[in-house]
Amino acid sequence: MTHDIVIEGGEGFAMLKDEDTLLRGALRAGVGLPHECSVGGCGACRFDLVEGEMDTLWPDAPGLSERDRKRGKRLACQSRPRGNCTIRVRCSDEYKPVVPPRAQSVRLVEKRALTADMTEFTFQGDEPAAFLPGQYALLSPPATPGVRAYSMANQANLDGLWRFIIRRVPNGRGSNALFDEVQPGQQLQLDGPYGQAYLRSDSARDIVCIAGGSGLAPMLSVAQGALALPTQPKIHFFDGARTAADLCGGAFLADAPAEILRYIPVLSSSAPGEAWDGETGFVHQAVGRILAQPLDGYDFYFAGPPLMIEAIQKLLMVENRVPFSHIHFDRFL
Ligand SMILES: Cc1cc2nc3c(=O)[nH]c(=O)nc-3n(C[C@H](O)[C@H](O)[C@H](O)COP(=O)(O)OP(=O)(O)OC[C@H]3O[C@@H](n4cnc5c(N)ncnc54)[C@H](O)[C@@H]3O)c2cc1C
Repeated sequence: MTHDIVIEGGEGFAMLKDEDTLLRGALRAGVGLPHECSVGGCGACRFDLVEGEMDTLWPDAPGLSERDRKRGKRLACQSRPRGNCTIRVRCSDEYKPVVPPRAQSVRLVEKRALTADMTEFTFQGDEPAAFLPGQYALLSPPATPGVRAYSMANQANLDGLWRFIIRRVPNGRGSNALFDEVQPGQQLQLDGPYGQAYLRSDSARDIVCIAGGSGLAPMLSVAQGALALPTQPKIHFFDGARTAADLCGGAFLADAPAEILRYIPVLSSSAPGEAWDGETGFVHQAVGRILAQPLDGYDFYFAGPPLMIEAIQKLLMVENRVPFSHIHFDRFL
């Protein structure tokens, strides 16, 4: 059954799929509802329900503070309308989907271990895989409440292949279910693409990719996409890992010409007995140390844990006044 959603003072839209959250329904309808992680962690999709009824999928989602909850705020990614509703939220064109997200069933065709805790998963759908480099999809691991966001490591393709690099998180329900319970041949629900940290093809600036741990996947996609741009920007690729055994980005970029792509691995702690004469420390420190100044001459793409994202934002926005339009990132909440 269709539900009509009215946005106070703005355009309305129809929710065409009963099981959709408000956020997914809005984006499928081409409405620019603000969002970032789509999985309840960031709070960017907060809104007010003015009229109507909605179910809350994850009442304890960390994207809402106690104060938000007292003020009646809700998260669009965790709200499912029960009928027609009126909401209050400020939409913006920048959040309109560049590629309309689509829910589909995909089949695992390959699972390949890259490091002790990172594995490449390749799924295949029946339709061409449409997304921009740097975007993510929502996967539904078996027996896991909610969905999990994973960034594509490959490029859009006609074969329907969606490739992810996923880290096994200790005690994480979704990632462990993917590692232990999903075997080649098995079907899974995938919904996407989502995300604003995609490669901008209209910039003449050099590109900096900064990957922290499992943030590698979207950075590989952005770098591979940039290598195919007719403008041939130079690419500085920082691959941050704990030890040399945790590094795996270099193999994916081995064919890139050295005069176009510079691969800089950075280790935050080396294992006992490990020989390493490359960069050390936190990856953002290496960025500040190695890149030629001024930093506002580059486009920056980065993905990884929230602390790394905060440190890079501080480096770029506070210490170096890099304009916001040069900065594109995803926090792996
Ligand atoms: C935009 C984005 C892109 C990402 N890309 C990657 C990637 O390429 N590779 C990678 O390894 N990781 C990626 N992540 C992290 C990934 O989505 C998971 O957070 C991570 O795998 C841990 O999930 P888990 O289920 O194992 O851990 P858990 O601790 O069980 O769950 C972690 C996350 O799942 C969600 N969640 C938890 N409980 C519930 C619930 N009851 N209902 C609904 N949701 C719930 C929350 O968002 C929580 O932060 C990305 C995250 C984001 C936001």
